[in-house]
Amino acid sequence: MSYAVAIDGPAGAGKSTIARLAAKKMNLVYVDTGAMYRAMALFMLREGVAPEDAEGICKKCEEADITIRYENGEQAVYLNGENVNALLRTEEVSHMAAVTSARREVRVKLVDLQKQLAATTDVIMDGRDIGTCVLPDADVKIYLTADSRVRAERRCAQLREKGEPCDIEEIERKIIERDWQDTHREESPLRKAADAVLVDTSDMSIEQVVEKILEICREKKGNR
Ligand code: C5P
Repeated sequence: MSYAVAIDGPAGAGKSTIARLAAKKMNLVYVDTGAMYRAMALFMLREGVAPEDAEGICKKCEEADITIRYENGEQAVYLNGENVNALLRTEEVSHMAAVTSARREVRVKLVDLQKQLAATTDVIMDGRDIGTCVLPDADVKIYLTADSRVRAERRCAQLREKGEPCDIEEIERKIIERDWQDTHREESPLRKAADAVLVDTSDMSIEQVVEKILEICREKKGNR
């Protein structure tokens, strides 16, 4: 039986940063499921499928071959044979991903891939439905969250670092909108699993959160 840590939570809570660091410390493979939904969204954008075209999304999703490889210890997402990692972090893709990920056909396909990965490898996997749907028997489940204003401030800091302009009000508005979409969709909405440990990172540093995750994992192991 492989070992699994599931981390769920809203956009911008720091899941990927934390999961990547914790994976290194615990010698686990980090699986970023959001990147898979982003790759699917990129495919729909390239194919010219409109966000409101539910039927088009369901049909087109069959043509998207999404696979994961590990290159220099980092996850690389391949879309129909092309490494698309560098194209996934745009506002356009984020917006489309929140819409396409709500479609059942898209989820069935990607959840299957995620389950396959976790069946053979010790993983720390982050997303929205990992503890509730993808890995309901995960050894450790964490629900990572933070105040929407704090999440917007963190996003602004990242943009400023890259020399890009940022409007905190606009960013916070989009974060709240994505939270609403993720928590109100019919298919696998974002919610805390009953057995997940809630970690609010609003007043915590990255190091403190990573330490907290390691502590939770140690405690769970000790209790087994
Ligand atoms: O985590 P990230 O922001 O990269 O995810 C992009 C989008 O993919 C999210 O807005 C969410 O709607 C969707 N997603 C999902 N289920 C997951 C991971 C991400 O629906 N397990």
